Amino acid sequence: MSDKKNIITIDGPAGSGKSTIAKILARELRFNYIDTGAMYRAITLLAIRNGVDPEDEETIVGLAKKSVIKLDSSSADENSYTSINLNNENVTMDIRSAEVGAAVSIVSKLSGVRKHLVEIQRSLTSNGNAILEGRDTGSVVCPNAILKIYLTASLKERIKRRKLQLKGKGQASDDAAIKREIQNRDRIDSTRKDSPLIIPENGVIIDTSKMAIKEVVEKIKNLYNERTDFKNKA
Ligand code: C5P
Repeated sequence: MSDKKNIITIDGPAGSGKSTIAKILARELRFNYIDTGAMYRAITLLAIRNGVDPEDEETIVGLAKKSVIKLDSSSADENSYTSINLNNENVTMDIRSAEVGAAVSIVSKLSGVRKHLVEIQRSLTSNGNAILEGRDTGSVVCPNAILKIYLTASLKERIKRRKLQLKGKGQASDDAAIKREIQNRDRIDSTRKDSPLIIPENGVIIDTSKMAIKEVVEKIKNLYNERTDFKNKA
């Protein structure tokens, strides 16, 4: 398991700004950005395309183990998604569909799926210098990360941000549908048995409702610098 090697984790509910903040931080700190949600989305897409029930653990885990998921964050800026390849096909936009959004939290409840993806996520962080973003990255994937952030914001603000994000990417949006999707995913993600969304032990909570992106980035960078200074002096 990863030790405290320069790893930052950012967890939080849907629409709390995790991706935007994580991408900027990764660029500024020259860290590898790991979008764990994109991996759960890719497995969900795999299940949908194969006509598999999202609760059919055995079949989905079998499909996942035979598949290759590749993340390429090298060109990801805060306005674009991480490029995702599933079995050599670019599925970056396909995993953002409403259909995947509606099923992803159901597939993410499956322990076999989580076990498989957590192994991949840990292998991606083995050299350190990584920033992970998701729901369990501080509590399960890298509990020894040097800095664990829990990012949150009011529901109203999260709906507003998701709407802007979709608009910016030319995707249609409707307030009521966004609200339903966010609330539904948060409920399932926070109440599932395996690796629910929680504030990780020693996690720092940042409510971004009234904060500008730049302020959040600076706050996390300061926290990170304090921790690394302390580690270097210890
Ligand atoms: O981050 P994003 O909204 O793309 O995540 C999609 C879904 O993937 C979440 O709602 C959750 O169900 C699942 N997920 C998870 N654990 C993670 C990251 C995402 O269960 N570490």
